Amino acid sequence: MTPLFQYTPNAVTLHPVVNGLSESVRNFSPQAQEAARRFPMRLPLALAQRISWGEVDDPLAREFLPNAAELEAFPGWETDPLQEAAVEPIPGLLQKYAGRVLLKVTMGCAVHCRFCFRRHASGAGIPRTLREWEPAMTLIGADHGLREVILSGGDPLTLSDRRLSALARRLAGIPHLTRLRVHTRMPVVAPERVTPALTHWLRATRLTPVMVIHVNHPAELDPAALAAMARLTDAGIPLLSQSVLLRGVNDDSAILAALFERLADARVIPYYLHLPDPVAGTAHFRVEEEVASGIIRELWATLPGYAVPRLAREVPGDLGKRLV
Ligand code: SF4
Repeated sequence: MTPLFQYTPNAVTLHPVVNGLSESVRNFSPQAQEAARRFPMRLPLALAQRISWGEVDDPLAREFLPNAAELEAFPGWETDPLQEAAVEPIPGLLQKYAGRVLLKVTMGCAVHCRFCFRRHASGAGIPRTLREWEPAMTLIGADHGLREVILSGGDPLTLSDRRLSALARRLAGIPHLTRLRVHTRMPVVAPERVTPALTHWLRATRLTPVMVIHVNHPAELDPAALAAMARLTDAGIPLLSQSVLLRGVNDDSAILAALFERLADARVIPYYLHLPDPVAGTAHFRVEEEVASGIIRELWATLPGYAVPRLAREVPGDLGKRLV
């Protein structure tokens, strides 16, 4: 069986075809196959093997397998609801909030989450080389109010450590920057990506590294994922988590309490719980704000305060996430 996801110390190769699972894929309804045509299914093999493929209520199936509901239009759910194009002065550089900028260093991911808020983004024009990033570096260097750069995407850890460490070195050369944040799903969906080479460059940079791991359900935290997080924390990398509140996946305080307890035990501080953004094709994941607030109240009654993330949603034009 050919692995769906492979890496070498300097390269990551993604295989979009589910080899060895073709029978399960053939059993998709024509609508689900159409959903996969519009936003391709992509799964690392080890994760694919943990999914109960025939069970629509399996949380991992709901997160990662195409669904006929993605074809349904829903009023107000759009391809770019956060209007990110308006805050992207040059391709790949987003400046939404004071003091920090976000670099979309790739639109590649090891996995395609069906609810992804950037599922319609093409990634056209995103720089691929340090030379192509130079206009962004000039802008960052000229803005002395900036302290932090966030590497995002896609998933930045689909890029090689060679490319990422070169980018980190370039950013570290900008004197007013102090922190480098990495937003990633890799420790959960492809834990083998957390290699000594990765922890080495994260430790070696002058900038203080912070990693924010995207995880939504305790079933995602298998022993390999927990071991990857341990390798990061043992290397001294501060870990935070962010989760999306998703109907039929984790819209239940008991499930989220189990998730945040496991994260706290793994030395990961739950940071944000996001209300889903109104992205076309994902309305079947929506959770009403009152329901979300009730879940958070139940979590406050159950967990220590440091294990309860902030419930937030993004509103285009706001200078920060809006806390709910
Ligand atoms: S890993 Fe992140 S960017 Fe990639 S599909 Fe999932 S949510 Fe979207």
